[in-house]
Amino acid sequence: MRKLAPEKFESGLVKLPAWFHQDLPDMPKIKAMKEALRGAHLHTVCESAHCPNMGQCWGQGVATFMILGGTCTRACRFCAVPAGHAEAVDPHEPQQVAQAVARLGLSYVVVTSVARDDLPDEGAGHFVATIQAIRALQRNVKVETLIPDFSAKEESLMALSAAAPEVLSHNIECVRRISPAIRPQAAHDRSLHVLRRFRALTSGVFIKSSFMVGLGESELEVMGLMRELKSAGCQILTIGQYLAPSQKRRHVPVERFVTPEEFERWRTIGLDMGFNYVESGPLVRSSFIAEKGYREALKS
Ligand code: SF4
Repeated sequence: MRKLAPEKFESGLVKLPAWFHQDLPDMPKIKAMKEALRGAHLHTVCESAHCPNMGQCWGQGVATFMILGGTCTRACRFCAVPAGHAEAVDPHEPQQVAQAVARLGLSYVVVTSVARDDLPDEGAGHFVATIQAIRALQRNVKVETLIPDFSAKEESLMALSAAAPEVLSHNIECVRRISPAIRPQAAHDRSLHVLRRFRALTSGVFIKSSFMVGLGESELEVMGLMRELKSAGCQILTIGQYLAPSQKRRHVPVERFVTPEEFERWRTIGLDMGFNYVESGPLVRSSFIAEKGYREALKS
């Protein structure tokens, strides 16, 4: 495993390797997307998580909606989303998301949320309402839900499974050893349980997960994690480079940059293990080209 430790500019900012270079985005299209989303008072994880793919995705008219407010009740140490007291749930939000999906002409939409430990169902009912609102407006839109763990509450998992989005996704985020340090309010085995329950409660629904590398994990640990996900019933997997959202103490620093060749190797290993689809690369995020992942998984 080649170790490419992060170098810093004088300002202290981390230098990104050349393979992070991207073409200039289509600014008028991005401006139009921003206006469409602002007008509807909607959050996107693209903005809230400082996603490096915004230029590419928004330039193609694709965004990931983040429901249940812009403040998370957990404070994971890899995540840019602000943590604190959550906002009141907006009962009109499912309808607003559905209208935005129609306005943007999306055929596939990813809906995610902040963690809502303050709600009895942790937000499952709001996800279900959002799926139903999207389908009521446009029957053919495919929906992927990327959920927090709902504290593995069985009623919440059952409610979402019954709504049958095309893809049920929950991110394991990192290898087992590192998990307590970067997701202190989550639990590795709880996340595996959530995926396992989704597999058991649904049929014809793809189960998906995602993790980051560059946090100090070993090759053996990555292999172990992939096996855990496979045996939990996961069919679609995405692997990407961890990038620290800020230099604040809350956020853990990047331990190393994983090369594109190594990402490609993980992709091949994942396919050999039997995942239906694996997207693996420095800029890959859970919702990155999500529609392609779903459509490719359907073919396999
Ligand atoms: S990868 Fe996902 S979160 Fe990032 S910009 Fe694209 S749609 Fe948004």
